[in-house]
Amino acid sequence: MGKGRLVVVSNRLPLGPNPSGGLVVALRDAFDEAGGIWVGTSGRQSETPKTRFDSHPGLPFDRLSFDLTKTEYEHYYLGYSNSVLWPLFHGRADLMETRSRFLADYRAVNARLAQMLAGVVHRDDVIWVQDYHLLPLAQALRATGVSNRIGFFLHIPFPALYDIMALPNSEEFIGWLAAYDLVGLQARRDVARLLEAFRSRPDVELMPDGSAKLGEQRVEARSFPIGIDAAAFAREAAKAFEVQPRVPLEPGERLIIGVDRLDYSKGIPNRFKAFRRLLEVHPELNGLVSLLQIAPPTREEVAAYQDIRSELEQLSGQINGAYADLTWTPIRYIHRAVPRARLAGLYRQAAVGLVTPLADGMNLVAKEYVAAQNTEDPGVLVLSDFAGAAEQMEDALLVNPFDLDQVAEALARALKMPKGERRARHEALMEGLLTQDITWWSRKYLAALRGVPRGLE
Ligand code: ADP
Repeated sequence: MGKGRLVVVSNRLPLGPNPSGGLVVALRDAFDEAGGIWVGTSGRQSETPKTRFDSHPGLPFDRLSFDLTKTEYEHYYLGYSNSVLWPLFHGRADLMETRSRFLADYRAVNARLAQMLAGVVHRDDVIWVQDYHLLPLAQALRATGVSNRIGFFLHIPFPALYDIMALPNSEEFIGWLAAYDLVGLQARRDVARLLEAFRSRPDVELMPDGSAKLGEQRVEARSFPIGIDAAAFAREAAKAFEVQPRVPLEPGERLIIGVDRLDYSKGIPNRFKAFRRLLEVHPELNGLVSLLQIAPPTREEVAAYQDIRSELEQLSGQINGAYADLTWTPIRYIHRAVPRARLAGLYRQAAVGLVTPLADGMNLVAKEYVAAQNTEDPGVLVLSDFAGAAEQMEDALLVNPFDLDQVAEALARALKMPKGERRARHEALMEGLLTQDITWWSRKYLAALRGVPRGLE
């Protein structure tokens, strides 16, 4: 098996002389070994979109960026990607805003990207496409004659069959997936849903080895749960905790922390309501526990995001109005991003990490919270069963985020949990994070992609 270069394609290209971020850390090793190129949008808009190539001595990959027009940004990115696919894949078909021009530009941007890529890929390269913005890319590449191995990784959940039926172009959607050699998903339940979608189609044949065949194309679907750089994050948290100012608390008061982009999939209203339920049912905890919620704005041009923002402002206002006293504010709600190191220190200060998405591909906050803990006296993770992370993190307190009583009781249990149990749970979780970390994820995926048989031989 030859080792061709690696070609990574993602919506946003990591920019700057020293780009950081999970995916860059994940792929550094692979690029060090095989060399290659990363392709993605530049983040700029222009009416005559330019492409730029750059090679930086400190980076193990070359970069190729391309601009979008304002209309493409609105239709491809805000439109089809984030107003159709995102809500649908997160079980919120009711929030979809479908327009035929969204889909037309989504196809067009992917076709343009495929033309561009066809000019730069070498015969032995493997191509790894990231996430839901680029679903049609393999099909578009095949149409230009590219016959390389092409893999896809979906960072968000895969939708249920009935949700896929709500897609205006559900037939085409399955064809997009079938054009890949390997579709990687976060969790086993995502693989099951993809196979269910394949099974529902008379033109797709499920093979005994678990792969699926549509026409001339054979595709494998497997789960590769993404990890974090747990060792580095643990070091960062310990350092940040020592040097940074702490959240001021009253004597005996403890902190529950929630950290999310402000997205309707993250279950933040449920979280606030479950916290209110805790205060209602456990009056002995009033004044002794507060919730710090950090939720920076995201995709504010999309209406559903404006709605969730006002819902949370109202809810936190109501709860604080009903429960606060002169020295205690039950919910501290911060609608801003917080620097990564600061976040790590805050996780470490918090006695409970509360992660309650209603749908989530993985949820890295759950992993970061665990990695940030003091191993001698760790906090407790309360984690939604609906996060992909729940499949790996069975030693967290797993909850159904729709069941407010259950979440409130899990919080009470976490706050009262003896140190021995906290340590045992944390040790088991941490071992998983260190073994299945971010480098493990990319190695495992790329080994699988390089190993898939090409064609129907
Ligand atoms: P998603 O990719 O849907 O946003 P994840 O939980 O998988 O959800 O990843 C979120 C990432 O963004 C984490 O690395 C987390 O640390 C970071 N993040 C989330 N909220 C904030 C915030 N308020 N300030 C800074 N970083 C944040």
